[in-house]
Amino acid sequence: MSAATHIQTAARIRVMPRTDEARDVATAQLPLRSSAPLPFSEQTTTSWGRVKRQRSSLATPAFLDQIPRVLSAEPDRKLLGLGLGRSYGDSCLNEGGALIDMTALDRVVAFDPITGIIRAEAGLSLSELLRIVVPHGWFLPTTPGTRFVTLGGAIANDVHGKNHHAAGTLGSSVRRLCLHTSTIGAREISPSVNAELFRATIAGLGLTGLIAWVELQLVRIPGAFLGAENVAFSGFAEF
Ligand SMILES: Cc1cc2nc3c(=O)[nH]c(=O)nc-3n(C[C@H](O)[C@H](O)[C@H](O)COP(=O)(O)OP(=O)(O)OC[C@H]3O[C@@H](n4cnc5c(N)ncnc54)[C@H](O)[C@@H]3O)c2cc1C
Repeated sequence: MSAATHIQTAARIRVMPRTDEARDVATAQLPLRSSAPLPFSEQTTTSWGRVKRQRSSLATPAFLDQIPRVLSAEPDRKLLGLGLGRSYGDSCLNEGGALIDMTALDRVVAFDPITGIIRAEAGLSLSELLRIVVPHGWFLPTTPGTRFVTLGGAIANDVHGKNHHAAGTLGSSVRRLCLHTSTIGAREISPSVNAELFRATIAGLGLTGLIAWVELQLVRIPGAFLGAENVAFSGFAEF
């Protein structure tokens, strides 16, 4: 990750002061700029498995209020969100359709270091998120084997970690999210509001719409280091 990326992201963070924490995160304002141009261009895309390479029309919105324009710009094509392309299979490809590259939507909208509630745009990588929250003593409740995935992609695949048996999937820590579709526009959904659509969106592979932002509950950690003990065995029998 370049130094420029660090500076850019750091400048975008708004760490909430201690007040009514959950409410502050909930009402935080999203940066908007609707006048920016938004071209679609033909590009070749592949996923992590490199099984397929596909030509798609691709747009990269940089502001949340550009999403409706993107969704209406290609009325004859099916649209699909694209994160960091770490899918093993072809779930992030859209043959004959258009892709919406979410990686420029990578801002932390609000983070409350007291409650561990964070709200961020869906293109933020888990790597960047952790860089921001770990110094405050917070971590994601579960992480996949790579941190180079976006929040939106991780939720669309409902990723799991090595603590799956205890913590479940990442989707269980989502407090709410904003979903855009070309038919109903933007909708805030949560486990209690539009619950059915919410459940279908977690692990929905982007097929219910485009996740614009996400609000998560993080978990407390005592520090950034793991305690480890090495125990040597002379063979299988001893093990
Ligand atoms: C080395 C490695 C280790 C991994 N380890 C694990 C693991 O331990 N556990 C695990 O569960 N997974 C694991 N994965 C898989 C990876 O975590 C998932 O594929 C993850 O979804 C990739 O996120 P992404 O941002 O790259 O999304 P992409 O691959 O770009 O997209 C994934 C899916 O999400 C959709 N999508 C992306 N952004 C949005 C959005 N904003 N709104 C709606 N839909 C969207 C896409 O359409 C696609 O269906 C691993 C992958 C790699 C490469």
